[in-house]
Amino acid sequence: MELRRLIVLLFLAVVITSTLLSSTMARYTDQFSGGDRALIAVWNMGARGEDDTPGEFYNKGFTFNLFDSKSVQPMDYGEKSFTFRGGGSDVAIAYDVEMDVADLLQLTTEEIKAIIAGESGKDVFVPFIFKITAKLNEGATGEVPTIFSPYDETSPYYDTGWFRPKDIEFDEEGYFSIFEGTPVFPPGSTDEVTITVAWQWNTSFYINDTNIPAVTEPNYVAADPATGSEGVYPPYYQVAYDQYYGSGGLLEQYEAAQNALVQYFEVHGSPEENGNWPPHSVPCPLSDAEHHAHYNAIIDPVEQQAFLNTHGGLMDPEAGIIWTEHAIFCTADHFAEYSVLKAAADEALHACQTSLLQAYDDYDTFAVDALAAREVATVLFRIKGEQVAPR
Ligand SMILES: [Zn+2]
Ligand SMILES: [Zn+2]
Repeated sequence: MELRRLIVLLFLAVVITSTLLSSTMARYTDQFSGGDRALIAVWNMGARGEDDTPGEFYNKGFTFNLFDSKSVQPMDYGEKSFTFRGGGSDVAIAYDVEMDVADLLQLTTEEIKAIIAGESGKDVFVPFIFKITAKLNEGATGEVPTIFSPYDETSPYYDTGWFRPKDIEFDEEGYFSIFEGTPVFPPGSTDEVTITVAWQWNTSFYINDTNIPAVTEPNYVAADPATGSEGVYPPYYQVAYDQYYGSGGLLEQYEAAQNALVQYFEVHGSPEENGNWPPHSVPCPLSDAEHHAHYNAIIDPVEQQAFLNTHGGLMDPEAGIIWTEHAIFCTADHFAEYSVLKAAADEALHACQTSLLQAYDDYDTFAVDALAAREVATVLFRIKGEQVAPR
């Protein structure tokens, strides 16, 4: 038995389109001027992605390809940064960065649910998590904007610093602000804000929601964003992998139980379709000493001879009885013995089919297939700057 391996690259072109929405060219009219002269303030807000030409800032689009235009597969991870600034504009700028992850939500529908580790009717979400951090350039004078969190201290995700798109409230367009409050560049500010967006395909943040026995108490799975690992996989998956494929693991137990059944059939044959266990002989299980003891307990010479015949006993004038290799008619309770072995094999198989590894693989496979069926899934960012009216 092999779990379905996810060797096919996920055909998910998760494209980041990014737009810098500079507000309508910031203008204000000087109320004090004698004539109808209008002053046009300097508005120099701009942004750049980490892949853009160093030092260049753009006031429309910039390059921010979160996934490097590559397809993504389960357990992938990465991060990308972009930077924006007020650029010494004459006016104070209230800024915001909004993110749209509406494409990265639930994949199951009312009609189409998933089977996870043998349990049907389960919901699957795109198992992405994000972590956003902000920092200012050296010599900046403003304050680092505070990144929002959809969680409070009671959430198991709070301490990880990572969030799941499904836990966020967003507007009708699908956007939400990544900041808490409204940060501002004061007039003339040359501060630069760098936002780093880390992402992971991490099913440990989602698997508990399936409520299958493999993840409910006492098997609750701790959401683990660690990517470094002694093993081949990230730690959260490695644990499930070792539990399944490791020495003495679920697969080995299943194979041992299956082998015991096969060996039993080899010795005793297997039941016929009519429900009979065919009569057969088996190698005699008695040792020489046991044969002797049995033989010596028989008094009637005719029965003694019959025992010798049945058990391959040869009378040697000098050495006494030599017990040669022989078979006897098998009188085992075959159906009883078989059902014990069968139950053990079934139980071991069930343990494999309901394992955490099976759950992860079912979840990821459903997500891969559902995402591959879409043309594209996008994660959008937009930066907004708005003139704070002068007083
Ligand atoms: Zn038998
Ligand atoms: Zn015998």
